[in-house]
Amino acid sequence: MHKDSIKFKKQREEMVKNQIEERGISDLKVLAAMRKVPRHFFVSEALMDQAYGDFPLPIGEQQTISQPFIVAEMTQALQLNEDDRVLEVGTGSGYQAAILANIASKVYTIERIHSLYKKSRNLFDMLRYHNIVMKYTDGTTGWKEESPFDAIIVTAGAPEIPAFLVNQLAVGGRMVIPVGGRYSQDLIKIIRDSRGVHKRELGGCRFVKLVGEHGWSE
Ligand code: SAM
Repeated sequence: MHKDSIKFKKQREEMVKNQIEERGISDLKVLAAMRKVPRHFFVSEALMDQAYGDFPLPIGEQQTISQPFIVAEMTQALQLNEDDRVLEVGTGSGYQAAILANIASKVYTIERIHSLYKKSRNLFDMLRYHNIVMKYTDGTTGWKEESPFDAIIVTAGAPEIPAFLVNQLAVGGRMVIPVGGRYSQDLIKIIRDSRGVHKRELGGCRFVKLVGEHGWSE
């Protein structure tokens, strides 16, 4: 395993400054987490030198690790507190879960592709993320036994908002999810309060498909 060398620390610092802060992300907890998590560990060795670029990268199984800015934007939209419990649907490389785990108290993350699930699990063990728990299954029905969650993040594009997930949001909870077509979506923020559920559009995005019972059928 590679170390978090000075070269990568420098690239990470530049990523936060030029891609994240420059574009208006101001939540100090999000900026600190992005400065800390070694993103290059979450991609294959061949792609390590591109890990801090302003783009998504392939992680195998036709899936991707999201562009750093979208990770920061979605995390900021969740308005996390340090005692929050967060559900993520779509573990992928594990990078977004690691960012969440630096800010919130516990992260529950679900992945439907076994090889990605296994790789991320090993990485969380190696990097000692003891506050991340994982499940290998279809995440479109959420994680009922551990609900309600203070925040829910879906990192794959859904044809519509899965009601199961909204129902697992605590009162006062926040959720972000890309919703739309197979190739491009709108990022939607959902807030649940004592009066009901409110939705807001944050802008356009491009995610791989959310595949499952309440998502796309492959
Ligand atoms: N959060 C990830 C990261 O930091 O690398 C990005 C993941 S990638 C854009 C989307 C992931 O969602 C893929 O790994 C895909 O297998 C997973 N996925 C798609 N549908 C899913 C479902 N129904 N349940 C769980 N995971 C799902």
